Amino acid sequence: TPRTLLALNWKMNKTPTEAGEWAKALQEELPQTDAELVVCAPAVTLSLVAAHLYGSGAGLGAQDVSAHESGAYTGETSAAMLKDVGAAYVIVGHSERRTYHGETDAVVAAKARKALEHGLTPIVCVGEGLDVREAGEHVPYTLAQLRSSLEGVQPGSAEQLVIAYEPVWAIGTGRTATSADAEELAAAIRGALREVYPDFADGVRVLYGGSVKPDNIADICAQPNVNGALVGGAALDLRSVLSMVEAL
Ligand code: 13P
Repeated sequence: TPRTLLALNWKMNKTPTEAGEWAKALQEELPQTDAELVVCAPAVTLSLVAAHLYGSGAGLGAQDVSAHESGAYTGETSAAMLKDVGAAYVIVGHSERRTYHGETDAVVAAKARKALEHGLTPIVCVGEGLDVREAGEHVPYTLAQLRSSLEGVQPGSAEQLVIAYEPVWAIGTGRTATSADAEELAAAIRGALREVYPDFADGVRVLYGGSVKPDNIADICAQPNVNGALVGGAALDLRSVLSMVEAL
């Protein structure tokens, strides 16, 4: 089984000053752990966070990347820029980007391809909304979204791809999917990955995200096909992050 990944998604929180102080404290307090910890920080904070995380064992990630190489794309951040600042991972297709910025599966796939071209590991997010869940369509819906969000995405090995299953109804709502719900989708995602990447699908980390916190992370990550978590709200507070690391 692959190494457990705890990815922190700060979303639009923390100024560079706050983020830098947080990273410095993490660097001082992070205990030895078998899990891999990655801080997905706002783009404008990345260089400061990178400097303070140095030597901590924690890795750096971004929350989004442009699908374009470079040039006249005002406001966007390129994969080359993220790589240069020290990021190893980038979240693509988070439900908030899909909802508020109209990102389609095709855009998400283009971003994942661009990340890979520059040696960044994309964390590709998928997951259904409440209406789909209530209609009982969550498995086929999420797998269709996964397949089209991976169109043309060709990682060279299992380490170069991460999938995050984040049911939209569980994000920031305090309504966590049960461990069984998380495992149902993680197993289905694993099955789909085996079709697309038969050589290494079993090594691809499949994360669960949605109201993960210190008291539920162990149970969720103990599921056979769940290889870690993508955490939002509970990732902002250092004490709660240290508790989650301890629980893994
Ligand atoms: P919460 O942990 O705040 O529910 O957010 C989950 C998420 O969207 C992580 O990407």
